[in-house]
Amino acid sequence: MKLKGKIALVTGGGTGIGAAIAARFVQEGAKVCISGLYQEDLDKVAGALPAKQISVCQGDVSKQVDAERMVEATVSFGGKIDVLVNNAGISENGSVADLDPSVWQKVLDVNLTGPFLLMKAAIPHMIEAGGGSIINIASVGGKRCLPGMPAYCTSKAGLIMLSQQTALDYGPQNIRCNAVCPGGIKTAMTEKEFGQFGEMLGIENEKFLDIIAKALPLKRFGQPHEITGMCTYLASDDSSFTTGSALLVDAGTSIVDVVGASIVAELRKGGLMP
Ligand code: NAD
Repeated sequence: MKLKGKIALVTGGGTGIGAAIAARFVQEGAKVCISGLYQEDLDKVAGALPAKQISVCQGDVSKQVDAERMVEATVSFGGKIDVLVNNAGISENGSVADLDPSVWQKVLDVNLTGPFLLMKAAIPHMIEAGGGSIINIASVGGKRCLPGMPAYCTSKAGLIMLSQQTALDYGPQNIRCNAVCPGGIKTAMTEKEFGQFGEMLGIENEKFLDIIAKALPLKRFGQPHEITGMCTYLASDDSSFTTGSALLVDAGTSIVDVVGASIVAELRKGGLMP
């Protein structure tokens, strides 16, 4: 058990990657508070885990009062907060000229301001306890452009820089901060994101995902549990000398940019991109 005695908060823990991280942390001995927008999702995840190790806190990460409440709920549950996983996120497609400013703002509010607010609330507790580990779930899209996704990619690139800045500023207080950059993982978010591209091209979602998967080095999308090993490492003392990193868990996507290339190729074929 790599996380025995650790207390963690996982935002967006009611679905997808966040739910998998919470389950893995519990399995590794941690006590975990999951937060998210929908009580029903949170209750479903918590219901499948030992009650002594899991608690829930409904709220919106982009609202300061909610972010503070999530951290307080974690500290009430476990007595401290050792690990913060900023996993909650949203994705919206649309190139700059087509993107509504309110959509742009919403993506930045959730994906970038949310983690800032959570870190702002958690860091004083971590300092008091003598340290902590912050894990920000960014994306391969924070390192490489993805076609038609400027808001998402900009928010994730910003999150990588915010993680590095936090690592620098709070290293002396023994707070480590790293970003994890997943590649394509099959979740509700991927279904929506690629579904929209597929729809534009008149290709059914599964078929479109198949086209992209074939171009990936491992020939497949990942499953949420495949991100949990890296997060467990970063949450544990095994990573005591790792901070300020942006760690790819992307099945090699970024070395060849196959997702971007195949989406562009399909959009061009359909006459939807110059
Ligand atoms: P998901 O949609 O299942 O999970 C996102 C979660 O965040 C949901 O539970 C949602 O309710 C929650 N959420 C959204 N807005 C929120 C808000 N304002 N306040 C609180 N909670 C909110 O998708 P996922 O794929 O599991 O995504 C998890 C994280 O992984 C995201 O940050 C995403 O950008 C990142 N990511 C995903 C992929 C992928 O291929 N699925 C790739 C790279 C990065």
